Amino acid sequence: MTDRPLTLMAVHAHPDDEATGTGGVLARYAAEGIRTVLVTCTDGRCGDGPEGVKPGDPGHDPAAVALMRRQELAVSCDVLKISHLETLDYADSGMMGWASNDAPGAFWQTPVEEGAARLADLMRHYRPDVVVTYDENGFYGHPDHIQAHRITMAALEMTEPAPKVYWTTMPRSGLRRFGEIMREFGEDMPEPDPAEAAAMAEIGLPDDEITTWVDTTAFSGQKFDALAAHASQGENIFFLKMGKERFGELMGMETFVRVRDTTGAAVPENDLFAGLR
Ligand SMILES: [Zn+2]
Repeated sequence: MTDRPLTLMAVHAHPDDEATGTGGVLARYAAEGIRTVLVTCTDGRCGDGPEGVKPGDPGHDPAAVALMRRQELAVSCDVLKISHLETLDYADSGMMGWASNDAPGAFWQTPVEEGAARLADLMRHYRPDVVVTYDENGFYGHPDHIQAHRITMAALEMTEPAPKVYWTTMPRSGLRRFGEIMREFGEDMPEPDPAEAAAMAEIGLPDDEITTWVDTTAFSGQKFDALAAHASQGENIFFLKMGKERFGELMGMETFVRVRDTTGAAVPENDLFAGLR
């Protein structure tokens, strides 16, 4: 044992992903005295601007959006009591197929080894016990999420890797319920076309393939407030409309697939730090 604090490192693509995907575990483990390190890879410049101005529309200023989102990220980190925020500041690549995919400085254009080398330096510095990122599809196919996955897995190869490594996921049962609730809250959710429905069916995992279920219900108020810090982003507004209580019921359980483990902790497990303390 060392006197180094137990450390969780979450590697995310954009400002706000820390709240949606891992807000519960970040808040919970901080409350348990674990050091939490958030690495945010891009500046979020392809997000919505003030007043909901969409990227590519008149009045969308990517530099101003990046600045606004950096401020929102700082608030979210305060809410979640994140110990250390590290930003790699690559340019947001936008959704797959957008011209911004090919822009100079875009994360998607960055060689994996380059991003991984920077992340590996952070891993050597913080020596995380647990690393969390996305699966190889970036959960839903966003290029920056895929790239965050790639640099994380490459950085782990460049360093003495963390004892436990996880990819975020969602149980398919929960996704179905999620779709029902979205319709209930009056989102204009047309029935997906067959191709889209097929792609959606690939998102998340069957419940019995999920190794790790962490109950963060007690921290869902913080998760809600962290997401509220990112209210400029249209896709977050739907969560906020739900209200805190409903949000906690729906978003309180955070789920992961364990892809590396040296502790021998049995699965399914209910704690990312099982076997480490
Ligand atoms: Zn994202």
